[in-house]
Amino acid sequence: MPKVLVIGGAGYIGSHVVKELLEGGYDTLVFDDLSTGQEVNLFKEAGFVRGNILDRKALDAVMSQNVDAVVHLAGKKAVGESMENPQKYAENNINGSINILNSMVDNGVKHIVFSSSAAVYGTPQYLPLDEKHPLNPVNFYGFSKMEVENLMEWYSRLKDFNYIALRYFNAVGYAADKSITGREKNPQNLLPIIMEAATGKRDGFAIFGSDYETPDGTCLRDYIHVSDLASAHVAAIHRLMSDKKSYRLNLGTGKAVSVKEIVDATENVIGKRLNYRYAARRPGDPAVVVAKADLAREVLNWRPRYTDIEEIIRTVWNLEL
Ligand code: UDP
Repeated sequence: MPKVLVIGGAGYIGSHVVKELLEGGYDTLVFDDLSTGQEVNLFKEAGFVRGNILDRKALDAVMSQNVDAVVHLAGKKAVGESMENPQKYAENNINGSINILNSMVDNGVKHIVFSSSAAVYGTPQYLPLDEKHPLNPVNFYGFSKMEVENLMEWYSRLKDFNYIALRYFNAVGYAADKSITGREKNPQNLLPIIMEAATGKRDGFAIFGSDYETPDGTCLRDYIHVSDLASAHVAAIHRLMSDKKSYRLNLGTGKAVSVKEIVDATENVIGKRLNYRYAARRPGDPAVVVAKADLAREVLNWRPRYTDIEEIIRTVWNLEL
């Protein structure tokens, strides 16, 4: 079986990718500096090397171990922080990715699946967002993802190299078999914050904005279960190894769900009321972000299995039971 190097494989999405790769029979090696990734997320069936993507020597040492393909998920991802400290994001997300790409080229590794984001699009000019929508990021995080996509595009033209950039929409949920338990520390995203309120880790939370032009006044997003995201990575590796083409693909479900619907669904799942209040809009939040999600289905021959938001939330709540 092909050998896959998962950079950032101890993180939230990375660990789910590792699980799917192992289940698919891939020889899997994790490279992670454990800065945000967690040791509890490592699978004993996968190899592990602790290292940082800014350390080119450490990268070369793993890349030279007959790696067939790379999944690169080692990025910083806090949008707010990227606006306050762009240097950190330039260094980690852009320089770190250049190191990975150069190490791949120098070691003859030809295929990469890259964690990109819907943030590359910026404020939607039309909806749903298809892959042809102009790239106009409104935060430095999204800019860093766009830059890496563009770098990979050039490398694919100039070198024996192909890539699939997966533009994640809102990743949520946990593996239903509870094999991954590491919760993110200091979460910035809606569902982990709600869960902290549900478990008493925090007193409550705020819904940012109730006056958007949406049916219930709160923002609409496209929530995709992390196990579905993960299985798309495995399908992407398969695709990369079977043709020479490269792709940039949305990973969403195409279904819009409001913040209020997430809150209500969580209350239903946990069987109690949550303590929340309505607060001002969060700067930079578009009212609606939803994917046109057909291209990934076609190119990867993949479908999300989870479509029901309560079922998705249950996979998180089950970790508490
Ligand atoms: N949100 C919220 N309260 C929070 C965190 C997020 O109301 O404490 C809203 C946020 O304004 C957005 C949605 O939840 O409309 C999803 O936000 P998140 O940060 O999870 O993902 P984003 O869509 O911004 O990437």
